[in-house]
Amino acid sequence: MKKILYVASECTPFFKSGGLADVIGSLPQYLNKTKKCEVRVILPLYKQLKEAFREQLTEVMIYTTEVGWRQQYTGIYEMVYEGVHYYFVDNEYYFNRESLYGYIDDGERFIYFSNAVIEFIYRGDFKPDVLHGHDWQAAAAVAICNIKKPVPGIRTVFTIHNILYQGWLMHSAFEELLNLDRIHFAGFEWGGMLNLMKAGIFHADKITTVSPTYAEEIKMDYYGEGLQWMLQQRNADVLGIVNGINVDDYNPMKDPNIPVSYKTSLPKKRENKKALQQEIGLPVDADVPMFSIITRMVEQKGLHLVMAILEEFVQQHVQIVVLGNGLYEFESYFNELQRKYPEKVQVTIGFDEGFSRRIYAASDFFIMPSLFEPCGLSQLIALQYKAIPIVRETGGLKDTVIPYNIYSGIGTGLTFANYNAHELLSKLNEAVRLYRDPENYKLLLKNISKVNNSWAKSAAQYLAIY
Ligand code: ADP
Repeated sequence: MKKILYVASECTPFFKSGGLADVIGSLPQYLNKTKKCEVRVILPLYKQLKEAFREQLTEVMIYTTEVGWRQQYTGIYEMVYEGVHYYFVDNEYYFNRESLYGYIDDGERFIYFSNAVIEFIYRGDFKPDVLHGHDWQAAAAVAICNIKKPVPGIRTVFTIHNILYQGWLMHSAFEELLNLDRIHFAGFEWGGMLNLMKAGIFHADKITTVSPTYAEEIKMDYYGEGLQWMLQQRNADVLGIVNGINVDDYNPMKDPNIPVSYKTSLPKKRENKKALQQEIGLPVDADVPMFSIITRMVEQKGLHLVMAILEEFVQQHVQIVVLGNGLYEFESYFNELQRKYPEKVQVTIGFDEGFSRRIYAASDFFIMPSLFEPCGLSQLIALQYKAIPIVRETGGLKDTVIPYNIYSGIGTGLTFANYNAHELLSKLNEAVRLYRDPENYKLLLKNISKVNNSWAKSAAQYLAIY
């Protein structure tokens, strides 16, 4: 049985800032249940680990990790949770901070993490056949693993969850942080700087990304964020595998966060809408179409399109519920819209998992008009909760939402092609019409209830790669 070590910077239920956490928190569990491989996961031990989990940690080993000329403390702690071994890399200087990311020394923090992981493989009993690194935070681990081969014959997989975030450092960091022979500089260098994601792509035996469409897109100038050329070079080893979700967890039949459980019953779903309206102070009305947005508030999520047309759209009899945080530009826009239309718009700036699920359960439509979207999990969660997704046809959104066609009755959502606010507005208007057209509305919901976004298919593709 193949042994796989996942190297990642976040993982549910321990730490989450976005979809990466969902993937790392569900794919290993799924793979281990197949009994065809054993996946273990190694993560930083951030301050955010809840006490209930902390109590379950056992110390595995203590050593020092080289970061350039410095020796840094490393503690390795272990916990078995839902059939998966998790290792946590402890170093308070790097990880005992208020947020997961966003620090001037993020590059150093994750080079330290990567060095610590390689040292862990040398010293530990778990000798992986494959090191599977996720995103730039684990890219140095992939590169160093390929260079140093901590287990003879070990192979590497690197998964790009979002090519926008690459881990740039000054080129002097090569000497100051990496402890590698100068001959390897070229593998890390990009545009006169160090680029960790480039190093991951350069070194990995296989490169995957999280949807087939995104795998094609990132080889193009518009989506490649400067790394398209690197991906074209490695084309033969690049594969897009669409993300699944844990369908037991995101399940409105079992979700303890929502007031009324339901499977396909529309009346029960509407009870959730009324409960949410009560909770957030919108007029209680089961019949008004409710649209929601749950997102990191960054340009990627298509919020400029939303800003261009939402005020026009709210002139109709609709309700809009927004949950998210991020750039001031977007937060202040949504706050202002709520101030102007308190009877129709409710905005919460923040990150709240339980609340997000009550919104998915309550809403009739989920808006996600991304500029680009590697896979997107929010639309998959929306489908689980029978909130009809309204998405732009890009990346994983294109691969997971089939446009509904009123003539054929086929499709699972509403989609538009161009990054154009009026295309979004026309889809929002179409959604309102659809909501008032019982025949098509029910047919679309029926199609959605047949969708299966579990890991089954994609896990088989990962197994094939390993
Ligand atoms: P990304 O990883 O780019 O942020 P995804 O759609 O892949 O986007 O994943 C986002 C995940 O984070 C989903 O599980 C979504 O429900 C969740 N999420 C995003 N913003 C919030 C928020 N403000 N509060 C709670 N959950 C959120």
